[in-house]
Parts: sequence; structure tokens; C-alpha cells
Amino acid sequence: MRIAVAGTGYVGLITGVCLAEMGHHVVCTDIREEKIQLLKTGRSPIFEPGLEPMLKQNLSNGRLDFTANPKTAYKDADIIYIAVGTPENEDGTANLDYIHAAAYTIGVSIEKDVIVCTKSTVPVGTNEKIKEIIQSVNPPPLQAEVVSNPEFLREGSGIIDFFNGDRIVIGTESREAAAIMEKIYLPLKIPIMKTDTRSAEMIKYASNAYLATKISFINEIAEICEKVGANIEEVAYGIGQDKRIGPHFLQTGIGYGGSCFPKDTKALVQIAGNVKHKFELLESVIKVNNRQQALAVLKAKEIVGSLKGKRVALLGLAFKPDTDDTREAASLAIVKALLEEDANIIAFDPAAIPNARKVFGNTIEFTMDINLAIEDADIAIIATEWDHIKHFPLERYTERMKSAIIIDGRNCYSLQDISKHPITYFSIGRPAIIDQPKRIKN
Ligand code: NAD
Repeated sequence: MRIAVAGTGYVGLITGVCLAEMGHHVVCTDIREEKIQLLKTGRSPIFEPGLEPMLKQNLSNGRLDFTANPKTAYKDADIIYIAVGTPENEDGTANLDYIHAAAYTIGVSIEKDVIVCTKSTVPVGTNEKIKEIIQSVNPPPLQAEVVSNPEFLREGSGIIDFFNGDRIVIGTESREAAAIMEKIYLPLKIPIMKTDTRSAEMIKYASNAYLATKISFINEIAEICEKVGANIEEVAYGIGQDKRIGPHFLQTGIGYGGSCFPKDTKALVQIAGNVKHKFELLESVIKVNNRQQALAVLKAKEIVGSLKGKRVALLGLAFKPDTDDTREAASLAIVKALLEEDANIIAFDPAAIPNARKVFGNTIEFTMDINLAIEDADIAIIATEWDHIKHFPLERYTERMKSAIIIDGRNCYSLQDISKHPITYFSIGRPAIIDQPKRIKN
């Protein structure tokens, strides 16, 4: 199949590269020309494990190409994937400007019948609008069938998820388009669900809302655990043994972030509101998450009093490990709150510094070396559970910090390991370790 992909972000680039890997001829396009130039040289503008070698391989075997000219990408395509961003508007609704612009460009570019397959997360009814826009600039007899094919990949394991997803959802009113899309995905041997367009659009929002609900639920249970002297890890394990509940997404922390959960939960509240349904459960999930993100700095203030002039080592900037994405990361809320307290921040991250620098410029220091981050720090706050942090020798905290105080927002260490060191340690939903003699570095 000849496939075009609109958008070379996390979803578009992974989709394009993986479809080329499957043997299709893929041309990806983007409105950001500098991305296309970089991609043409075989380099990836995003950090995603395994992506760059696969990108290089498919560029060199001629199955993958990049162009900044959308007409070149779209005119001969059998299928055009839309994978452009749908960021949130100020009121929480999904901003569909990029989607509408992509649909218009597709409309003016296509020269033959085509399937337009939307991977972007879009509110119910958007695919109908896409079809309307295309037809308004390119009316029948030319046929553009729309398919909603929501994406469920997780940044950091996007390639693995593409080839091993739990399910593929194909939502369309066109039987022919559904059959063609099914044929594309059959070699993956992943269960395929064919449904109507609106249900497919809703499946994506409902999935993210449910996962966010699990996170806020366990975070609230963790808060209660701290107050009643229970341990959230024991509790989560005990809950997860129940097959009706399952063990996944029951890890407590300082809240969900990233480019999906925060915006998609808010968008679903708005989608419900549009049909006069107050989504009270999801509103609470969002509220709990906002509170959770503020927790680390509140704890820091409780422990050291004023943070003014204190050196704070922030360990982790990415919203989760194995990605450079900092969109809506808990670290951003932490940095903002720390700056308001006039703290001096030095942040460690192995991949996300360029993206964080775009947000914070020179207001904070950055380092890719944890040792430097914690050197002479008054307190360390862990915001991302990178392996670099999880496997960092604990004695270094006592050797290097001014005072070995850690607020672990991701429960990276076992209480047993911590208790072998003179570290004051606060995690989420577990008893604090404050009885250890605190080493004060001279
Ligand atoms: P992104 O911001 O990383 O990438 C979007 C890309 O689209 C950008 O490079 C942008 O320049 C480009 N673009 C914008 N308008 C364009 C146009 N008219 N033509 C061509 N390119 C255009 O976004 P992302 O994280 O890849 O997300 C894309 C969509 O997929 C969103 O709707 C998101 O909610 C959804 N999604 C994301 C993930 C994820 O993990 N990131 C997972 C599932 C679904």
C-alpha cells in the first residue's frame, strides 16, 4: 500500500516508521520543515527507544520518505493517516485547528480515491467533520472514506506497542475501508475490533479516562494509607490480585502527566458537558491529580520550612521514563512551585533537558549527571522513575548532599534499602523514614 502520514510527532513518526517496517511505502509530512530535514538525514527529532535504527533502515531500503510538501505525500496515497496534535484549549476542549487544516490540505491535494485514517485523539463527530471538509474542497465523484483508528501506544515503548498492542480499533461506516484497514493490520496478529466511527472515537477517550481514574484512585488510597499507617505497596498488591481489578496502573506517585491523560480527561469532561452531562467522577479524578502534583513541594516545605535559597535537586523532568516528553509532566508543576518559593533548582534528566529548557530557559540549572545534581543539595525530589535514579547507589546521597533528605514522588526505592542508610526519606503512601541520624555535610 502507498501510505502518507500527516504529522511526524510521537504518534505519526512511530506509525510511519512501523508501517514501512511492515513493507508498505510510506511518506511522512509535517508543517515543520526543520523536522523533515532532520528526518531525511535519518535522525529522529524525538527520543523513543528503537526508533532511530528502524527509521534509518527503512530510509535506506527506500520504503520510507519524508517531504515538507503535502501534495507530494498525499496525491498518490491509498491511505492517509492523520497524526497531528490535538492540544487543549484554555477551556479544556480539544483544539482541532491542526486537524481541520490537515483535512483541508488533504482535500486540495488528493487526485484519487483515498482512505483518511485518523490516529489523533479527537472528540466524537470529528471524523465526520474531516470528511465534510475534504468533500467541500474536493467533491464527489472522488471518494474519501474516513476511518477512526485511535492510537494506544505508550511513549517510551511505542515501537513495542505498535507491534504488540492489546487491540486495534477500526471505526468507520464504510465496509470497504474497514476491510482495507483490517488487511493492513492482520499481519500483526493483534485482535481487531471493527465498529462505527463515533464509538471508536469514544473508545479512546474512555480508555484514557479509565486509566487516569485508576491512577487517581490509588493515589487517594495512598494518601489515606499514610494517615492510617498502612503501606500502599502492600495494599496495591493485595487489590491487584483480584482478577476483576488487575495489577496494572495501581502504582502510586505524584500524579499522571504527559501529552494525553491531562488533556484527554479535560476534553471528555467537555464532550460530556456538550450533551449536558456533568461528568462528576472524571472531574474528581482531575482534581485529585492536580492535588497530587503539588504534593512534593508541600512535603518539602513541611520538612525544611522555608525553601528560599535552598538547593533542590530535581531528579527527572520527563513525564515518565524512556521519553523526552515533558508535556504536562509533574516536574513542570514542581519547578513552578519551587521557583515561587525562591528555591535554587538543579534538575537531572537523561533525555528531557532540551524540552524542559524550552519552558524554563535559564531559571534553573540542568545536568545529565545525577551526582552533580545532588552535590551540596539540601533536598532531592524524585519526579520520574528513570532506571538511572532507581539504580543509583544510595550511599551517594549521604556522601554528596548537604543533608540527605529525599522526597520520592515515584517510590523508586524500597524502605528496606533506604533504612540501611542515614537518609531521611518521604515517599507516597508509605511510612516516612525520619528516625535515621541525618548526615550533615560540612
Ligand atoms: P506531537 O505534537 O508530538 O506531533 C504532532 C505533529 O503534527 C507535529 O510535528 C506538528 O508539527 C505536526 N502537524 C501539525 N499540523 C500538521 C499538518 N496540517 N500537517 C502535517 N503535520 C502537522 O503530537 P503526538 O504526541 O504525536 O500526538 C498526536 C495525536 O495523537 C494527538 O491527538 C494525541 O492526543 C494522540 N496520541 C498521542 C499519544 C502519545 O503518546 N503521544 C498516544 C496516543 C494518542
